[in-house]
Amino acid sequence: MVKKDTKVKENTELMDKIISLCKRRGFVYSSSEIYGGFAAVYDYGPYGVELLNNIKNSWWKYMVQYREDVVGLDSAIFMHPKVWEASGHVSGFSDPLTECKKCHYRFRVDTVLEEFGIGADEKMSLEEIEKLFKKSLAKIKCAKCGSNEFTEIKKFNLLVSSNLGNFSGDSDKDPVYLRGETAQGIYVNYKNVLDSTRVKIPFGIAQIGKAFRNEITARQFIFRTREFEQMEMQYFTSPKEDMKEYEKLKEYRWQYYLDLGIKKENLKWHKHENLVFYAKEAYDIEYKFPFGFKELEGLHARGGYDLSQHAKFSGKDMNYLDPYTNEKYIPHIVESSAGVGRTFLALISEAYTEEKIGDEERVVLKFKPEIAPIKIAVFPLLKNKPELVEKAHGIFKNLSKLYRCEFDDNGNIGKRYRRQDEIGTPYCATIDFDTLSNNEVTIRDRDTMKQERIKIENLVEYFKLKFSGYTTGQ
Ligand code: ATP
Repeated sequence: MVKKDTKVKENTELMDKIISLCKRRGFVYSSSEIYGGFAAVYDYGPYGVELLNNIKNSWWKYMVQYREDVVGLDSAIFMHPKVWEASGHVSGFSDPLTECKKCHYRFRVDTVLEEFGIGADEKMSLEEIEKLFKKSLAKIKCAKCGSNEFTEIKKFNLLVSSNLGNFSGDSDKDPVYLRGETAQGIYVNYKNVLDSTRVKIPFGIAQIGKAFRNEITARQFIFRTREFEQMEMQYFTSPKEDMKEYEKLKEYRWQYYLDLGIKKENLKWHKHENLVFYAKEAYDIEYKFPFGFKELEGLHARGGYDLSQHAKFSGKDMNYLDPYTNEKYIPHIVESSAGVGRTFLALISEAYTEEKIGDEERVVLKFKPEIAPIKIAVFPLLKNKPELVEKAHGIFKNLSKLYRCEFDDNGNIGKRYRRQDEIGTPYCATIDFDTLSNNEVTIRDRDTMKQERIKIENLVEYFKLKFSGYTTGQ
């Protein structure tokens, strides 16, 4: 029986525990670990990939499948170099960088100011940040060696370039970038989608895909990585309706996180005060990570900037002709841009629970059942009893057509339960000697640890009820 349920409090220790659990239990590994790792790049293991897929599927259902006004897209990572000029990324997609004069540690000035409690905003100009930094030098120390002597602040472009198709050998000439965001693939296909489908404004185009950024400060595990996945929906509206649609989108996205099982008190809105010149409004949804409230998703009202820029740089007409009013205009865009990795970290942080049962401690990931990497674990009580093993394989075969299941016949049942608790499996089904005579299996619930006997022929119906009632996912 559960005697005490202690949700582990926000602290740095918690982050270490999460990182260690992620590695130990096959969620996340450092990239190229046998070669000493590769900074700010991670690989997702067998349970990690299941969780990632569940996040992406739930997002796709919520943002595309459930809506009459949104269609999907999968654009390429490589794009024409002009795209990034038009978008402003070549000239403006940069972070303020400085280097410690003593140990040469490089870091992002705005984030360090923030860490020292000095109110910097990421949208501040370089001059404003420089002024703040100089004023605050007495307080700021190098995180590595403690010195407070730093080089002049420089702008550091975040686009990652490749040598694709660059036959001149001159890497400064026409570099082909790995996309810095998925949104541009949507903007450049807006006309294609309009001409090849039945969409009419207002409508959205959604995409999930990889993006790459030369992040300066690579810390906080999978929160900030150099290769990551975004889930973006760009919504095209008339210039008169964009702010109305923006409000609707904000509300819709907030609800998504609640549906995923995140508590309201762990989410908050952050309004951007210093907007880029074309933006009408910008908010982030922040999650209370173990290291504090940080951005999970950005929601931006971008006006007509993106399509006007692409019209200008490509020479193509990006106007929309309203079939009802005959009005012609460049659509305005409101966007929702979320990170898969950050959602992953938020869900693990939310689910991580330590409980005391008698003298024993157990670690449980209390995911909402629909998002759990493994839905049902199937155990034969003993692995050296062929009748039990065969029956268990049969049950696995049936249930695995509907749910991601795991077969485990290793070790005693108590140990198998603990393992499943740590990866967040909501239900375990054990096949024992009684099963052979009465066709019943024991179903054990992850959270209450209560057990009940269910007839094999009723299992499908039983789990259908257990996994129903969620708006996102399975
Ligand atoms: P930050 O201020 O944290 O660098 P951002 O404002 O640059 O983020 P956007 O460009 O708005 O982020 O990207 C949208 C979303 O993509 C973010 O809310 C985040 O979830 C995700 N994201 C952005 N950069 C990274 C990264 N380096 N690693 C992981 N996820 C990221």
